[in-house]
Amino acid sequence: AEPVLRLQDLKVHYPVRLGHGFGKSMLRAVDGVSLDIGRGECLGLVGESGCGKSSLAQAVMGLVPVSSGRIALNGREDWGADRLARARMVQMVFQDPFSSLNPRQSIGQSLGGPLKLHGVTNRSEREDRVATMLRKVGLNPDAAGRHPHEFSGGQRQRIAIARALIVEPQLVVCDEPVSALDVSIRAQIINLLLELKDELGVALLMISHDLGVVEHMSDRIAVMYLGRIVEEGDWRKIFTAPAHPYTRTLIASIPDPARPDAGWERLRGEAPSALAPPAGCAFHPRCAQAFGACRAGGVPEFTGLADDHRARCHLLTEGASR
Ligand code: SF4
Ligand code: MG
Repeated sequence: AEPVLRLQDLKVHYPVRLGHGFGKSMLRAVDGVSLDIGRGECLGLVGESGCGKSSLAQAVMGLVPVSSGRIALNGREDWGADRLARARMVQMVFQDPFSSLNPRQSIGQSLGGPLKLHGVTNRSEREDRVATMLRKVGLNPDAAGRHPHEFSGGQRQRIAIARALIVEPQLVVCDEPVSALDVSIRAQIINLLLELKDELGVALLMISHDLGVVEHMSDRIAVMYLGRIVEEGDWRKIFTAPAHPYTRTLIASIPDPARPDAGWERLRGEAPSALAPPAGCAFHPRCAQAFGACRAGGVPEFTGLADDHRARCHLLTEGASR
């Protein structure tokens, strides 16, 4: 079947001013990403802040221009002026539910507006669907008559999720959906997304800097570093047989007393800027296992490790001949 989302060699580059007298440079936010998300599947996209995951999300939503490569939603690439059909196909949940909801609109208006836009002209039908959706996200239908400031952060994120799902999209892009929330309610929101994914068959692109957040809901995980995917695979393989040194450090840095670090090094130093990515393997300045080819060679190509598991690391191809 056609994947819900297919990215082929996607590049999102921005011209950036470097300050007075320094001219301009190209920020290679997304630098050649190919990914598929199947129907009803959850792909966890993980990496540090600045790795390009939000730019990737914005490109999928049509919010930033694509420099090169392809984005196909349901096999369709050219959505042109058909923004309404595109918005019906793919919706987004943002990090901060307070700034993503209009404070002057009631929850009923916030959820009913998109329905009206998408052709549900009958008012009582809209009200019914708003009430049903509010129940699905664990809220009392009375919430429809209230305003965003009357709700807690977790409740507002439930409302934002309801608004994303009410037009029955096939894909929801969630960019750090729990990182602005209290630690104590993060699991509730993650479980809610998981339940809704199973119940509604919607595909999810779950973006987080924290591998622990996507662990329990992802079918597959892709790890991103400085604009590129460095490892991708079935979530169990990522956790039981991580092949890229960066993935291992991300696993080791998940706060979990039940999972000792097992000797892997914590991440060393800051992520370099995507304005001036290191030559060779971009991870080499921070990699405890770097060797000659990592600095002098090219960008590591993907090595297939199993049916649904691949990684970009010279150790996987040249490790034996070191
Ligand atoms: Fe480390 Fe080299 Fe592998 Fe890059 S290619 S992750 S520097 S071992
Ligand atoms: Mg971000």
